[in-house]
Amino acid sequence: MPFTMRGNDVCSVISPSPLPAPYWVALSRSAADLIGLRLNDAGMPQDPQWLQLLAGNTLSVDSIQFSDPLATVYSGHQFGVWAGQLGDGRAILLGDIHGQELQLKGAGRTPYSRMGDGRAVLRSSIREFLCSEAMHALGIPTSRALAIVGSKQPIRRETMETAAICSRIAPSFIRIGHFEHFAATQNIVRLKELADLLLTHFYPECAKNQDQYLSLFKAISLKNAQLVAKWQSVGFCHGVLNSDNISALGLTIDYGPFGFVDHFEIDHICNHSDHAGRYAYHRQPQIMHWNMACLASAMLPLVELDYSAEDAQALLRSALEDFPIEYASQWQHLFRHKLGFFAEQDGDIELIERLLQAMHDSRIDFTSFFRSLSCIPKSMSPKDIALRNDFLDRDGIDSWFQDYLARLQIEALDDAARKLAMDQVNPKYILRNHLAQAAIEKAQGDDFSEVTKLLQILSRPYDEQLECGIYALPPSPDLNPVAVSCSS
Ligand code: AMP
Ligand code: MG
Repeated sequence: MPFTMRGNDVCSVISPSPLPAPYWVALSRSAADLIGLRLNDAGMPQDPQWLQLLAGNTLSVDSIQFSDPLATVYSGHQFGVWAGQLGDGRAILLGDIHGQELQLKGAGRTPYSRMGDGRAVLRSSIREFLCSEAMHALGIPTSRALAIVGSKQPIRRETMETAAICSRIAPSFIRIGHFEHFAATQNIVRLKELADLLLTHFYPECAKNQDQYLSLFKAISLKNAQLVAKWQSVGFCHGVLNSDNISALGLTIDYGPFGFVDHFEIDHICNHSDHAGRYAYHRQPQIMHWNMACLASAMLPLVELDYSAEDAQALLRSALEDFPIEYASQWQHLFRHKLGFFAEQDGDIELIERLLQAMHDSRIDFTSFFRSLSCIPKSMSPKDIALRNDFLDRDGIDSWFQDYLARLQIEALDDAARKLAMDQVNPKYILRNHLAQAAIEKAQGDDFSEVTKLLQILSRPYDEQLECGIYALPPSPDLNPVAVSCSS
């Protein structure tokens, strides 16, 4: 849907800065389908102008003319502290195509670039591209990635790297930070316009209610509670859950120093710059809740249009309390399914929590453990379960498996049917950091084949794939952990 708001208190119309001598690094066929982009037999756009469009070197392609590309202004809380005005510092929204917004990340400076160069490097573009498409295939709401175009233009980060642009697609890139911006600048007209835009295009069921702004708040908050439960269920850590990186549509956006947990640590920190662990795995739900509190304060003036100031505050406060309830219910549902519990029983949650504690204590690989769980027949004896050998406390895990197998007895599905159902929720393939890193290192030597290969594998994360077994393995212990930080 188009971002229809205009005016210099909302956005700046700005053209991308040209990227010299661009070349294709990768393209997602399924993202191309989403916007009706026609590809040739080689899987590339039929109209070669697309390369120039996605490099920011032209604004017209096929019969489309993007007449007013723009960068939007937003504000936000970064690492828990009010950061004031931010904005699309390196992302330029080209416009709307097939009901989706097309944005170029790394397309040059904008009025919101502050000290930044407006560019993105190949390394971070590959990570964002692969993870967006992997998350989509996992069934997790996310912005999509259409393509990466690269260039030899040098870019200074911690070392010298080269520039790239990742083209992103989403129905809308509106963030909590947009609300915070108009609330902080007391621009109530724009605040209302923003909420009305969301109500019309994305939350029409809320627009029917008398208390439409309160309903909108509740709906955004619940979507984000559901989102973070999904992240937890696949071991995904976002890395920078600042309020300007939280979508008003409940999408995963702004992939930076994200990471999937390999060897499970409940307090895993994926972002090297996050020294205090504010955005550690186990903190994500409470941090998302905190972000929803930021949204609630930003939306207070709107709720006050329908209620007295006192009632508006009380209603928003009470709506905010629905977040942990929704989160817990989604989390329980997802983890029950991961364990093969399709009926609900008292004691399930305790079993799940005992397992996660044991996995943490022995640093068990999160993804491959859950994937393997589906292979255990109900009639097996705990001592014959090979997975037990990975745990340090054998007696403890034997006792857990005993309770687990007893619990499985009451499931209606037989072993084969339960395996099928569990394999739909426990992925075999995720974008592990070491896999992304290997693809990046090859790409930095102009070999993009590993990016394409990973894209292919990760687009079917729940399927067994022939000869791809090594892509399912955790990093070997002698491999140095990949350090990812905010610098990208
Ligand atoms: P992030 O942590 O990546 O979400 O970025 C926070 C803010 O900094 C956003 O407003 C970005 O647009 C901006 N930003 C990040 N990197 C750059 C860059 N290289 N040039 C300009 N702005 C940037
Ligand atoms: Mg951001």
